[in-house]
Amino acid sequence: MSSRRDFLQKLSIGIGAAAFTPVTSKASIFSGFQRPGKQLRVALMGLGGYANIVARAMTDCKLAVLKGIVTGTPSKIPAWQKNYNIPDKNVYNYNTVHQIANNPDIDLVYITTPNSLHHQHVLQIAATGKHVLCEKPLADNAQQAREMIAACKNAGVRFYVGYRLHFEPHTRELIRMRREGAFGKIMHVNNYMGFRIGDPAQWRLRKALAGGGAMMDVGIYALNGARYATGEEPMWVTAQETKTDKVKFAEVDETVTFQLGFPGGALASCGTTYNFNNYERLYVIGDKGFAELSPAFGYGPIAGRTHLGPMNQPEITHQTAQMDGLADCILNGTPDPAMTAEEGLKDMVIIDAVYESIRKNGEKIFL
Ligand code: NAD
Repeated sequence: MSSRRDFLQKLSIGIGAAAFTPVTSKASIFSGFQRPGKQLRVALMGLGGYANIVARAMTDCKLAVLKGIVTGTPSKIPAWQKNYNIPDKNVYNYNTVHQIANNPDIDLVYITTPNSLHHQHVLQIAATGKHVLCEKPLADNAQQAREMIAACKNAGVRFYVGYRLHFEPHTRELIRMRREGAFGKIMHVNNYMGFRIGDPAQWRLRKALAGGGAMMDVGIYALNGARYATGEEPMWVTAQETKTDKVKFAEVDETVTFQLGFPGGALASCGTTYNFNNYERLYVIGDKGFAELSPAFGYGPIAGRTHLGPMNQPEITHQTAQMDGLADCILNGTPDPAMTAEEGLKDMVIIDAVYESIRKNGEKIFL
């Protein structure tokens, strides 16, 4: 396994299995399917690898439906129209997307373009008056994220970030147990997420399109996980980077470790990489118990155990649950999960501090 494609393929084995398995868990996750017939109508913007995964997963959605596409590559259009029954009037490119404002068939645009385009694309969609779901990382930095949130607020539209794990049953159970005190006072978190990236020409290795490297792309899972494992916001950050391949990783970070200090006294020790595989785990321990998810952050199957024994949560297709879950929030007013853009901004503030600490040779950055 030597590339992101291999990594995603491995993950998609889980997706494939889950996609063809009856999803029995949704009823237990979402209580709010009170308005059958009404659906959240979604357009996908940026038809790359992840958009394909989302589109396929959405064929199993009950409350969300794929109705439109935005693409700069005309050759992709026929297959997408055929596979997802998308009419000509719901097909846009990056120059015509402003016209989506006049399209009553679309409620929300899901932005799945490279990281550094998220800022401009969210501003563009907010101006159309459609709700916005943007992939992680929300932006290149916290300042951009604040501008995006302000634009959506001014336009009166909802704005979410694609943190699919907040609809994932093991993750939700871990958060529930922590909230109810099952682990006691949280003492330590140890999270890591990374993989060996392939093609040296891909946008993920270009700072102008990726914003950063492993930290931005998958370190964000370890970071977000530290926040939901503790239920607190860190007070300070320290971070270190090592680059073993200075050519391939000339523009972006390769392997980063970072530490977070929380108000309750817990420390999180986290890592991320673009240079090796089999690096994916969430571990949280308190004075009464612990939880370990491993794998913790990929598309599944997620597996876990706690001090009480193995976790037996159902395996689901994350993107199906995410899209039905968000539709439930928007259509039925069920409480927002921790997928609001404000949650994405909190991670961007911390990522800014991680990079600042690296630039300052590991100096402690207070938040
Ligand atoms: P990708 O390269 O497969 O797709 C990106 C798409 O954006 C392509 O269709 C490309 O044509 C289009 N695009 C538009 N303008 C572009 C430009 N100027 N340069 C390059 N491409 C341009 O990437 P991906 O893996 O689908 O990732 C897209 C986004 O989704 C990223 O922000 C990534 O972090 C996120 N993502 C999230 C998850 C998750 O589990 N939540 C998983 C994978 C990717």
